Amino acid sequence: MTDTPLRKVKGIAVSPGIIIGKAHLIDRSRVKIFYQYLISDQQVNQEVERFKEALNAAKDQIIHLKNRMPEQIKKHSFILDTHLMIMDDSMFFNATINAILSEKINAEWAVKKSVENVENLFSQIDDPYIKERIVDVQYVAERVLRNLAGKEQESLFEINERVIIVAHELSPADTSSINIAKVMGFITDVGGRTSHAAIIAQSLKIPAVVALETVTRQVQEGTLLIVDGNTGEVIIDPDDDLIILYQEKQLNQERFESSIIRLSHLPAETKDGHKIKVRANIEFLEEVTAAKDNGAEGIGLYRTEFHYLRAQGLPTEDALFEDYKEVAEILAPNPVTIRTLDLGGDRFSSEVSWTKETNPALGLRAIRFCLKQPSMFKSQLRAILRASAFGDIQLMFPMISGLQELLDSRKILKEVMAELDQERTAYDRNIKVGVMIEVPSAVTVADILAKHADFFSIGTNDLIQYALAIDRVNEHVAFMYQPFHPAILRMILQVIKAAKQAGIPVALCGEMAGDPLFTSVLLAMGIDELSLNAGGIPMIKKMTRSLSLDKAKADLRKIMKLDTASQVKEFIVKKMKPLLDELDHRLFMATGE
Ligand code: PEP
Ligand code: MG
Repeated sequence: MTDTPLRKVKGIAVSPGIIIGKAHLIDRSRVKIFYQYLISDQQVNQEVERFKEALNAAKDQIIHLKNRMPEQIKKHSFILDTHLMIMDDSMFFNATINAILSEKINAEWAVKKSVENVENLFSQIDDPYIKERIVDVQYVAERVLRNLAGKEQESLFEINERVIIVAHELSPADTSSINIAKVMGFITDVGGRTSHAAIIAQSLKIPAVVALETVTRQVQEGTLLIVDGNTGEVIIDPDDDLIILYQEKQLNQERFESSIIRLSHLPAETKDGHKIKVRANIEFLEEVTAAKDNGAEGIGLYRTEFHYLRAQGLPTEDALFEDYKEVAEILAPNPVTIRTLDLGGDRFSSEVSWTKETNPALGLRAIRFCLKQPSMFKSQLRAILRASAFGDIQLMFPMISGLQELLDSRKILKEVMAELDQERTAYDRNIKVGVMIEVPSAVTVADILAKHADFFSIGTNDLIQYALAIDRVNEHVAFMYQPFHPAILRMILQVIKAAKQAGIPVALCGEMAGDPLFTSVLLAMGIDELSLNAGGIPMIKKMTRSLSLDKAKADLRKIMKLDTASQVKEFIVKKMKPLLDELDHRLFMATGE
């Protein structure tokens, strides 16, 4: 054993699990140094050809990556399609060739100019979606420049040893080509919780930690690492004691996971016989199988924005219909709750011309946007209704802030139903229409809304944002995002009571539903359904099956008398200590510890 101090760095844990293995550094530093030179008239055509060859090689590389993408992440292949489209786009392709021809500059210089031009144009548009596209253009340019320089692009697919990837940043092309048989997980200098790399790591079920700042400079090829994707800790060059400790943790986690997965097909029923429904939140059709495998009793929230955010233009009614129909058929007889379009806020479609808003979270978002765009809204409603003939589909409206909005939405729904009647198109006439409760005003008038709704679904992600006045995508106020806040607990209770009074079921589909620390509180309040990411379902079922409703109710009475979020949290953590120990510290992930 050596006397060297323990080297431990902490970043953001984005995909859970513990791995111990050797580092493999991936050089994704930008190709910064290249020659800029003027060329002669005779060289111009040759230079254009050089650019075209590098571009074609880049296309072949992307197509190759796409074809070898692991099944689990095929759904993300549209990112690679975007890269292929950029290569053919005139802003990139023609602009580069024109620069070579007219300015007589070498291909590298011309590529750099085209990218700068796109960056300048895009930077004037204050739209997160467009900003992401700048990164895609940069990735494409990077690949072409590497080809021009004759630099090897190491594909993550070609790695043939079990390693932990260490990189400054991983591009969508990188993460899409990860060979999970070899890559145990990855750590990066940059990145965030919702970055593309993070989402892929979760889909692949490999641990990942991002935002480690300078880890690529602290680690060398082959350095032994422990990566804890639950806590965000990375230990560089651990000693034997630490390795043994983490191997034990790893084993416990594996044992725990296989024990809960076996329980996932049992009902979510407390020890004293109280049952709730546990359903899945999905964004893509491809997630339905994982939802079923994890024991979801239907889909409690189908976020439908994804189709509108793809680069291929707005979806047709038929494309939506086919998608919804398939989800409904796969899950029948269980229900699929389709939420109508929730664009705006932090989700923008490049196909819609958005007016720039100072405060988009409080702007033309979700149902407000749909009511202003009735033809787009109607096309989605038609698709949902048509699909309702093929399974148990229910629909719900997001961001309802008061009765008038609900009545206006229902009126449009009725018009669409009349159209379908006239065309003699089949649909479920008794389709259930729910309201998402995620705006504080909707909480206050929940009793009124309940008379006009078939069910409620509480969207705590937004409810917390609007109730506590903290922007959910602003990292500077992230520490104030407190689901334990007494105001939030009171609001949830008020909504549940209003639903019970009116005799309608009430679900909760925000991130709180997936946090086992809240299961007891929500059960005691009378929630009928929890809807969460598929991967968390076994844990929530396990938690429910370990609780007794009577005890949970007694605890709730005490909790509702507490004054602050930290008192509430302390109480819950203390009460659940024995269970928490059994369920391991993974529990704390959702609450950000
Ligand atoms: C919510 O706001 O809690 C919710 C489930 O919807 P989203 O996260 O899509 O806004
Ligand atoms: Mg919401």
